[in-house]
Amino acid sequence: MKPDFIPLSVPNFAGNEKTYVNDAVVSEWVSTGGSLVPRFEEEMAAYAGAPGAVACASGTAGLHLAMLVAGIGTGDEVLAPTLTFIAAVNPIRYAGAQPVFFGCDDSLCMDADAVRRFCAQQCEIRDGVLHNRHTGAAVRAIAPVHVFGNLANMDTLAAIAEEYHLLLIEDATEAVGSRFLAGRFAGRMAGTVSDVGVYSFNGNKIITTGAGGMLFSPHAQWLAHARHLSTQAKTDEVQYLHDEVGYNYRMTNLQAALGLAQLEQLEGFIAHKTAMYERYRQRLDGVCGLRILPFRKDIRSNHWFYSLYLEDFPLSRDTLLEKLRNEGIQTRTIWGLIHEQPPYQACQAFATEKAEDYRAHVLNLPCSTNITPEQVDRVCDAILALAGG
Ligand SMILES: *Cc1c(COP(=O)(O)O)cnc(C)c1O
Repeated sequence: MKPDFIPLSVPNFAGNEKTYVNDAVVSEWVSTGGSLVPRFEEEMAAYAGAPGAVACASGTAGLHLAMLVAGIGTGDEVLAPTLTFIAAVNPIRYAGAQPVFFGCDDSLCMDADAVRRFCAQQCEIRDGVLHNRHTGAAVRAIAPVHVFGNLANMDTLAAIAEEYHLLLIEDATEAVGSRFLAGRFAGRMAGTVSDVGVYSFNGNKIITTGAGGMLFSPHAQWLAHARHLSTQAKTDEVQYLHDEVGYNYRMTNLQAALGLAQLEQLEGFIAHKTAMYERYRQRLDGVCGLRILPFRKDIRSNHWFYSLYLEDFPLSRDTLLEKLRNEGIQTRTIWGLIHEQPPYQACQAFATEKAEDYRAHVLNLPCSTNITPEQVDRVCDAILALAGG
């Protein structure tokens, strides 16, 4: 008998999903109205310890709103990582601005020291505003990503942002449930330590609403503005009056129904993901020229994605992916670097060596919240058998 297919990352609807979605359908509140959207916002804000939240149609929509409420506009520059999903960067362009790219440190997140060097050596302050000497453009914000549920070096990035009067826009789409345990932000959740932060509930994220996102900000006016923009910037329900160009970016009641059921299970998902990560680590870390990349020690990570690093493995990364696929095991390479892709090739990129190395050597292993220990063992057995060990 052919063994079961082991997917990379699939949703887990073992909780109240069907009940809550059915209730929403029965109530006939399936679109952007209905009581579940504000309830999901309240529960998510309470979970994250944030003063408020705005539920969005997707993480990408949330990031676009984040750029807009931060006032990022035409001709501005935003400092961003090159080793991440391209949806972290496209919203900079939607807002008419340009990214300047940076490589990563060993957390896979944006290299904060390279950002500091850029600000100190490649920029000058004119009229109190940081300007990129090469392009002449105003640098407005730093937009780090918490890659795979690890956390970026926010202590350093926040210090740089303060020193140079930059905004911080936090892509926490992969880090729902990750928390700082030490430093300036000890006890705080990913997505809540910047001027604006965003979660994603896409199908492969740790909790899902099919598609969806959540925007956080400590600035009450920014939250209100994001909510306004997400609902077509309508100022009068009856007369249909609009005071600016808005968007259809609001989450629907159906999505919120899923989200409420998923949030009930989030801490359990994190515990399971953490246990399965440890199982992979015990079997594969330091074996056959392999490493399981660590999460930072000074955080509580959600362990969203597991990264196998092929240091000195007998097969190439891409051959291993192919052979595992033939055995019904789905894995994934880490992303192509964004500054090398056609829309962004003209942008500046700094300190990219580590990002290039991780790009070439990382394979993401199956990590669904319902993966079993037996399935993890089967993945490990297959990898070790391919090593000839
Ligand atoms: C998933 C993701 C997004 C976009 O979220 P969607 O909900 O899919 O639109 C943005 N940035 C990163 C780093 C992501 O992983």
